[in-house]
Amino acid sequence: MYNAKAYSAASATSPLASATIPRRDSTERDVQLEILFCGICHSDLHQVRNEWRDVMPTVYPCVPGHEIVGRVTRVGSAVTRYKAGDLVAVGCMVDSDRTCHHCREGLEQFCPNMTLTYNSPDKYLGGVTYGGYSESIVVDEHFVLRVPSNLDLAGAAPLLCAGITTYSPIRHWGVSNGKKVGVVGLGGLGHMGVKFAHAFGAHVVVFTTSPGKKEAALGLGADGQRPAVLDVHRDHRGFVEDDTSTPHIDQGVGGAEIYGHISA
Ligand SMILES: [Zn+2]
Ligand SMILES: [Zn+2]
Repeated sequence: MYNAKAYSAASATSPLASATIPRRDSTERDVQLEILFCGICHSDLHQVRNEWRDVMPTVYPCVPGHEIVGRVTRVGSAVTRYKAGDLVAVGCMVDSDRTCHHCREGLEQFCPNMTLTYNSPDKYLGGVTYGGYSESIVVDEHFVLRVPSNLDLAGAAPLLCAGITTYSPIRHWGVSNGKKVGVVGLGGLGHMGVKFAHAFGAHVVVFTTSPGKKEAALGLGADGQRPAVLDVHRDHRGFVEDDTSTPHIDQGVGGAEIYGHISA
């Protein structure tokens, strides 16, 4: 075990503060990395404030962060895919049971025994796992991803949660050239949704109550912007990706024939 610096919340009402946390020594299958960047996901805020207490109560101290980009400093003897110096990333989960049918199909994100990157029982050290708001982390090779060296590393970090959350439904529903995609909300996830949908060739319309975001939406690749009420015409067939983090009413989409409702 070794110590790492981190930003940690002591309670639901305290600000994040500098702290020291334990990290396990690498097992033979582990990758230890120096964390270079970590995105700030809205889930981090919910978790720090214990706003999901009914389904996932927060254990304090809480070190959030699951959009991690770093450089490998050490690998265990059985690690085959990474070596010291590699640029790597860690997302929302750091382990699973590897035996259930989800894991066997490569869908570890549905594993009932998954270990989340933070606030999950830590099977090595006890207590709960600590996330990426820290200088170092140790993760099983199976849950480490490679980062191409030509990416902007700070800009790549949000791909680990906001990115995959929007990419996955866009791929699942076959968004491609000529399809229409409505993105509700232009914040972290909406930002990603617009870029992905545009990159796949879709006609992208952003729905937002903030007129000031129109320019940003167009700059990210959107073809248009509409107010929050989804004044979609009947002849507009497409997908709606709902990326809002605040309570809202799913209104107006009934006027359109929607292929799929993509909730991120
Ligand atoms: Zn997240
Ligand atoms: Zn499993």
